[in-house]
Amino acid sequence: MAGEVMLTAKGERWHRSRHPWIYRDDLQAVDGSAAGQIVQVKAADGRPLGQAFCNPASKITLRWLTDNAEEPIDRNFWAGRIQQALAFRQRVVRDSNAYRLISSEADGFPGLIVDRYGEVLVLQSLSLGIEKVLPMILELLVEQVRPCAVVARNESSIRALEGLPQEKGLIHGKLPERIEIQEGKCRFWVDVLEGHKTGFYLDQRENRLWAKGYARGRVLDAFAYQGGFSLQVAENAEEVLAIEDSAAAVERLNENLRLNGQVRVKAERANVFDRLRELEKQGDKFDLIILDPPAFAKNRGEIRDAWRGYREINLRGLRLLNPGGVLITCSCSYLITEEIFGEILREASRDAHRTVRFLESRAQSRDHPVVLTHPESRYLKCVALEVV
Ligand code: SAH
Repeated sequence: MAGEVMLTAKGERWHRSRHPWIYRDDLQAVDGSAAGQIVQVKAADGRPLGQAFCNPASKITLRWLTDNAEEPIDRNFWAGRIQQALAFRQRVVRDSNAYRLISSEADGFPGLIVDRYGEVLVLQSLSLGIEKVLPMILELLVEQVRPCAVVARNESSIRALEGLPQEKGLIHGKLPERIEIQEGKCRFWVDVLEGHKTGFYLDQRENRLWAKGYARGRVLDAFAYQGGFSLQVAENAEEVLAIEDSAAAVERLNENLRLNGQVRVKAERANVFDRLRELEKQGDKFDLIILDPPAFAKNRGEIRDAWRGYREINLRGLRLLNPGGVLITCSCSYLITEEIFGEILREASRDAHRTVRFLESRAQSRDHPVVLTHPESRYLKCVALEVV
């Protein structure tokens, strides 16, 4: 028999906003035995509201599963949600065999991420509730997707907040020696065990393909990782300079260049902050600059420093552009909202003494859906600006 959890009056108001997380302070007493269980959630007057995963040890104590208090959350329930997630990707993913198949709350799997690299699935389980049903979900994924291998990348520090251990490794099948994906006309080797995130920055897929439309002349790809943007834009550019400070990523980037027979991209291992300053000193100019840094603000305390960091790279980026040049600038810090990012870019253009025109504003690829009432799910900003 599933347990019950009652919301406070404030919790009920919060729940009405349809945010999928309910915090400990918004609940009446929760029994420790509910850890990892699916509980019935009730209003203060006892009205049933729905069902949620419960983890009394986590600040995010409830993670919403369904408004239907009656439906059994069993194998059929999860099988249906996987089918929906797959059907949605079939509608929105074009030109690639690598994409996010399950995107946590946005697909009704609180705390579960499943990325697909062709025949290989890589998952991250980030909540106690999902961890408990994972064996069943794995079976269903194997049935419905027929992957040759499934890898778990459960190294995220978020797991500690849920009381879960850090681990990674193969959990089904056999890994092919090399995993190659295709994105648009380009091919990439992906290292699902050692690469960043689950191996590739899938959230930027649509932005990489779109960036190609702005490429011409000399291009600078700063924070290049394994050359995702560089390879896509190279087709329309005369030359691309890719800057990345991780030796392993630069090595992979060069392998990807060879894989595609791409000779117009030059990869450099350097710190972007230093290198932008040097390029400016040397009087270098570019026609397109892409800035795709890691998240500078991971918590509220880091927002001020992050602001400074984003302003610095954007200021230098703008100064390094020829007239008519385009800056494609990104931020994947959820805490740097679109409004804050806009303010940072305004400051950068003012300090660069350049007139800057806004061209376009985008978010993450559609296979990382944004739920309107879950603001945390819209984290990636990608803005195109033109220097007059
Ligand atoms: N644009 C890439 C993803 C970039 S992720 C893609 O589409 O695939 C950010 C990258 O910046 C990471 O590879 C990280 O190693 C690198 N990085 C972080 N700090 C850096 C710095 N100061 N200088 C250069 N590279 C940096």
